[in-house]
Amino acid sequence: METVIPVPAVPTLPVEGTNARFPVGRIFCVGRNYAEHAREMGHDPNREPPFFFMKPATAVVADGKDFPYPSATKDVHHEMELVVALGKGGANIPESKALEHVWGYAVGLDMTRRDLQGEAKKMGRPWDTGKAFDHSAPCSAIVPASKIGHPSKGAVILEVNGQVKQKGDLAELIWKIPEMIAYLSTLFALMPGDLIFTGTPAGVGPVKKGDTLKGTVEGVGTITFKVV
Ligand code: MN
Repeated sequence: METVIPVPAVPTLPVEGTNARFPVGRIFCVGRNYAEHAREMGHDPNREPPFFFMKPATAVVADGKDFPYPSATKDVHHEMELVVALGKGGANIPESKALEHVWGYAVGLDMTRRDLQGEAKKMGRPWDTGKAFDHSAPCSAIVPASKIGHPSKGAVILEVNGQVKQKGDLAELIWKIPEMIAYLSTLFALMPGDLIFTGTPAGVGPVKKGDTLKGTVEGVGTITFKVV
């Protein structure tokens, strides 16, 4: 195919246990998705439908690569999250079939310019400058679901310079993975390569140059990087 400018490279993430890589399509992020305390099993009538925002695929930073402190902000926050990697697309996916669309899982951070996000909220403007900036999605290697299954519980922990800052459990997700996929697929035709950042537990806070961040989701993996 002849193109008038060079075709941009498709961002990819490593896959654990192989040299093959996972091509990243879109990145969907779920807003507020953890209850402060473990909830009893069953339906919560007070929960609101999940809401989503997006980051470009070019925002991914592979595990171990530095996170450059972004421009135009004085308040960059860490948000530690489980990442779902879709291997199969589709629209109006039923909840009962949703996990068949998952290729694997990863551990990622939804890095946030909190000051710009706060301004956008106040003014009723989009969140893009707060959420979708370059390098805003550090992500571990993808671990195949064929290897680890589909996690529904397990500790979610973020340490900054060895100190635990965020701690939660996948069991506390308000919207579970199949529910998120089913709901999202009513709004967008999902595609193989799409990632879903599933929301962050309590304890978000600022980072500064020189910090080392280490995130873990029990049963999935670990990500470590430095803020430069
Ligand atoms: Mn988030």
